[in-house]
Amino acid sequence: MTELPDRRLLLVHAHPDDESINNGATMARYAAEGAHVTLVTCTLGEEGEVIPSELAHLAPDRDGGLGPHRIGELTAAMKELGVTDHRFLGGPGRFRDSGMMGVEQNHRAGAFWSADVDEAAEHLVQVIREVRPQVLVTYDPHGGYGHPDHIQAHRVAMRAAELAAEAAFRRDLGDPWAIAKIYWNRVPRPAAEDGFARLRATLPRLPFTESATVDDVPGVVDESVITTEIDGTAYTAAKAAAMRAHATQIEVAEPWFVLSNQLAQPLFTTEYYELVRGERPETRETDLFAGIVTGRGEAGMR
Ligand SMILES: [Zn+2]
Repeated sequence: MTELPDRRLLLVHAHPDDESINNGATMARYAAEGAHVTLVTCTLGEEGEVIPSELAHLAPDRDGGLGPHRIGELTAAMKELGVTDHRFLGGPGRFRDSGMMGVEQNHRAGAFWSADVDEAAEHLVQVIREVRPQVLVTYDPHGGYGHPDHIQAHRVAMRAAELAAEAAFRRDLGDPWAIAKIYWNRVPRPAAEDGFARLRATLPRLPFTESATVDDVPGVVDESVITTEIDGTAYTAAKAAAMRAHATQIEVAEPWFVLSNQLAQPLFTTEYYELVRGERPETRETDLFAGIVTGRGEAGMR
């Protein structure tokens, strides 16, 4: 793999749709700028609720089939974002959606939540050593909002980053690679509060009747935690189109959207991050690759 672009970004997500909601603008921006953007999705999202009534038969408590259907939605979303390298962890269907915390599906055979972290991480080590990303984006340790698959995606991504760099670990999976910068998805509380204030003012004129609250937004933190913000204003349309492609999960009326709970949320086009590996910047970064030297073939090695 000597033909890879200089800048390489890897994102690890739990279900199809998480990437577009959290990082759609970021992914579209870096893809448009010629960076290699790789998305690894850990499950097919088989346990998701289905919004459109004409597709209700796909639900896990009806005929099923939501997993394969969501592969199609994700493929369409990646087309909107201009991302061509998309994979499922261990291949499609290797790990199953675990459902919300506390349900019996958490412990079903094949559930991602029940997977051994090291074993799941090995699949990702192989991707890391192949793509050699300088930047990894995933969730915080709480998975943003406590969904078992999001927590597990965080654990697997962080563990894989560690193992991929270990010289003695599984050389059959490729040469060691140390990821220079790791980010967690975040939303600063003031930006979230602003968004909801605007939403409430607009609500009477929207197709949606009720508003979610700041507490429904994953990864909300104090402003001081944020190290990096990506202004994706130029990619608003791409992000909205990618979210809309996940039609079983999201209804979009720009600049707002709802999930299956029908509670409206702001569609953020500036996306925020907390740098957790790499030198913490003195002022807020506006580029995930800030400080990374590329173009010498050894980019990102430390
Ligand atoms: Zn999810």
